[in-house]
Amino acid sequence: MPPTLAPDIAATLGQLQAQVLVRGWLSANNIVFRHAGAGQLVDSGYISHADQTLALVDRALAGTPLVGLLNTHLHSDHCGGNAALSQRWPGLRITVPAASRSKLLPWDDDQLSYRETGQRCAPFTPQAFLEDGDTVQLGGRRWQVHAAPGHDPDAVLLFEPDTATLISGDALWQQRLAIIFPELADEPGFDAAAQVLDRIERLQPRLVLPGHGEPFTDVAAALAASRQRLAAFIAAPQKHRAHAARALLVYHMLEHRRRPRQALVDWVASTPIFLKALQCVGDAVKAQQAAETTVARLLADGVLLPLREDGVDLVQMADG
Ligand SMILES: [Zn+2]
Repeated sequence: MPPTLAPDIAATLGQLQAQVLVRGWLSANNIVFRHAGAGQLVDSGYISHADQTLALVDRALAGTPLVGLLNTHLHSDHCGGNAALSQRWPGLRITVPAASRSKLLPWDDDQLSYRETGQRCAPFTPQAFLEDGDTVQLGGRRWQVHAAPGHDPDAVLLFEPDTATLISGDALWQQRLAIIFPELADEPGFDAAAQVLDRIERLQPRLVLPGHGEPFTDVAAALAASRQRLAAFIAAPQKHRAHAARALLVYHMLEHRRRPRQALVDWVASTPIFLKALQCVGDAVKAQQAAETTVARLLADGVLLPLREDGVDLVQMADG
């Protein structure tokens, strides 16, 4: 069961006519709005959780039809339920960041990062697009749209000024910092991420509804933690690369739970995002070594557990 919300957070969500469905790491949080007989949703989780997402959203809506769905960005953990939700509620209007438009129309797995990361997402068709400076109606209130490049160049933030509530996606979490994906491909991203943190600070949010983790109000501490982490990555980009490889591998194991060790190493050594992160594009030997090292470190740290079954070495997630 999720922890009980602090009274001030619950009161603000009440004003916003919003409920936050806090998920894990494989699926991003879902924010459900119910207003004037219509339901809206921000972000839809990962594809393998689509049934669970449908059930949770159904329960939160309590019979109200879902008419609108917005995505903060199009990583697989934020829009993997879009297709299933469209099937469940025909006519559902899907709104995505305008910067992603050409990647979706027509659908392009390569540009959308799913092939590169070895992740999955069922195709869907967006009807509307969010630009920096736009406003959107959610739960009967006007939310500002702000560009939020860094983690994902196309991402947006949503901000409701009356209650000073921020839907931050993966641009700000309470304790951790999301991977700055462009940097893995030797493209600039750290500066953009820093500027987004400045932009968030200028908005002076009192409540943050992040893409992962519980809603939080200690925004200054979260910004300080993100800036510290970002400064460490800027000072030692290799640490960012190693962190990214690790986080992406954990994400994969959250989906698959248990895999033969050698198959996992081979998967890492042949999945483009890891080759970029570990700087071994075009070098199969180095890729195998780097993949083996990444898996070995997660085993040494107890994030993955070793297992042997029928003479085959397996690894599985340690979180039960
Ligand atoms: Zn995410």
